[in-house]
Amino acid sequence: MFIVWGKKLVYRKLGHVADFCPICRKPRPFVLRRLGSAGHVYYITVSQGELVGYERTCARCGTAFNAEPTHYAAAASQPASLPELARQTFPNLEQAWKERLDLERQLREDPRALHADDRKALIRSPFLLLSPKVEKRFASTHFDKEVGISALVALGLMIAGPALVHKVSPDSSDLAVLVFMALGVLLVIVQMVLAGGRFMRREVVPVLAQCLRPLQPTPGELQAVMAELKTLRHKMASKLRLEDLIAHLRGPQGAAGARG
Ligand SMILES: [Zn+2]
Repeated sequence: MFIVWGKKLVYRKLGHVADFCPICRKPRPFVLRRLGSAGHVYYITVSQGELVGYERTCARCGTAFNAEPTHYAAAASQPASLPELARQTFPNLEQAWKERLDLERQLREDPRALHADDRKALIRSPFLLLSPKVEKRFASTHFDKEVGISALVALGLMIAGPALVHKVSPDSSDLAVLVFMALGVLLVIVQMVLAGGRFMRREVVPVLAQCLRPLQPTPGELQAVMAELKTLRHKMASKLRLEDLIAHLRGPQGAAGARG
């Protein structure tokens, strides 16, 4: 018998906290989770595992960041409005993030008044913050809706195709089984390859664009970050299409044009 076992990450929700989201550029509600590495048999675990770390996920943009639970006064068991959550979990949020909040205020008032170093760091930051999400996605095989549909279509082809051929030309039915099987497999493989691009366009580019929009980065500034990511061997450097990002930064119309 083939037994599937090994280690897997176990997430345990600790509660809701308020904190600053560098992607949204604002204080936001977060979900705080503990990450453990536990042994599994057939992906079933019985323990919360050895502590790996803590993670906070922004309720608005969905980005996960490393977290330090001792920073919070408490973790609220129920979601609440931001001021209420801040009062319960992070009462000195404004003071703790003062420098960053001042910088964000300055950015909103006049993006051109930023110091060149601050501007560079602010443009670079969302790429680095979203990079773990991209690394994680491409570290294993993922299926999206389109892959699922193509698998169903492939199954249909494998059943209906040979049956149809058998009616028309009974002598060729053995070959037809092979041909339709190959076609089905090819269809699923193509969709799995395309799924990576869809993930970037749906889940990374819009979040990145929204974060970068107030800075109005030039294509040159974005290219410089991409070149740096390439040197650092981040997957994002090869998976992100800069033209998609630039189109998104120009607005929904530009994004539609780039997709078409
Ligand atoms: Zn956010």
